[in-house]
Amino acid sequence: MLVQGLLSILAFAGTAFGELVLDRFDNSGINALGNWHGCDGSMSCQWNGDSLTIQSADTDNSFFTQFKGACQDLGSFNDQFLHIVCSGDKKFSVALTQNNNGCDMSRAPYPETWDIVNAEDYSNGEDIYIPMSHFNIMKSRTLGVALKAFRNPGASTTFSLIEIVDSAPGGVPEKKPTGPLYFSCTRPNSIAFGIDDGIPSLTEDMMKIVDSEGIKVTFFVVGNSLDNPDLPFKALYKRALANGHQVGFHSYTHPKLEGLNSVSAIDDEFLRSHDAVMRNLGVDSRYFRAPYGTDGALTRQRLEATVPGTKIINWSVDIEDWIWGPNDPDRQQTLAVQRDLSKGGNLFVAHYLYISTVEQLRQFIKDAKATGKQIMRVDQCLMDPNAPPL
Ligand SMILES: [Zn+2]
Repeated sequence: MLVQGLLSILAFAGTAFGELVLDRFDNSGINALGNWHGCDGSMSCQWNGDSLTIQSADTDNSFFTQFKGACQDLGSFNDQFLHIVCSGDKKFSVALTQNNNGCDMSRAPYPETWDIVNAEDYSNGEDIYIPMSHFNIMKSRTLGVALKAFRNPGASTTFSLIEIVDSAPGGVPEKKPTGPLYFSCTRPNSIAFGIDDGIPSLTEDMMKIVDSEGIKVTFFVVGNSLDNPDLPFKALYKRALANGHQVGFHSYTHPKLEGLNSVSAIDDEFLRSHDAVMRNLGVDSRYFRAPYGTDGALTRQRLEATVPGTKIINWSVDIEDWIWGPNDPDRQQTLAVQRDLSKGGNLFVAHYLYISTVEQLRQFIKDAKATGKQIMRVDQCLMDPNAPPL
């Protein structure tokens, strides 16, 4: 009796160990814990009363469901399993997200990172059991679960339960290794510019501004433009390296990687772009930026398998040139930078695709300097022991 009573108390406490229901999909506004859940706007989400049917034509879309608005400590759940019940297509990813160190949704980045697995690998009928230990995040700051990167645009999946349980029937597969995903610098008081694609006519102006401001930045280079002898990029990035900047890779043809229809097509994008940077610039880079920032389990697993040890570099300061670049009389890109910097963002995504961006680049750098943080390369801001000294 005593043992039984003790067990039921512990089960009731729920946080020591035991089962925890996160989402029953019976309320479109809140999950089973009374916290927020919802779909990205551009995917089809149909609430059926006791389930949710998702169809997505774009691998960028996600459904999120949160343990807490702040941080949920799931540190004691590492031996348990995330159990998802769903019918229909299983070609999607499951991510466990980690909040920022302030556990604060008004700070950037939010979330801070996540780890991700392929639902298909763990699927048995309508059940998916994923060991919590397969999500390599700081579990004391767990934010929630994301169902994302739906790779089969014609198919749908209907979800009816997400919970954490003590055991999984049958065996579970090995964890497929995934590299880390960064949205922010880890060195205290650091800030970094990650500059991606550009157009030939703006290369000279862009480099002149960066160098005259006395900063070192990281360029993420698309392989096929580096390989194209009619374009100025090889010469540009050779000069950038000579001036102390860093170069990483950014795919070969700039597709949404998770949406490619074969593993070999994804592998090709990694291998060929890594090779293009090595061949043209002599750099064996382990820094990758995903086109469009798109993430999914296949992308993460194949990157680790093809170019082991590579870090994926996303961002927490978005200049929003993809919105304002073509027409920016009110300098909205500068306002976007100032807003993200004020939230604590310290890792930029920028391009030199528009005159309006290059015209405001000096201002972005001034605003970054005005935070009091030190501007440096991405490898330096992540305290890479192989990075050049500051
Ligand atoms: Zn890009």
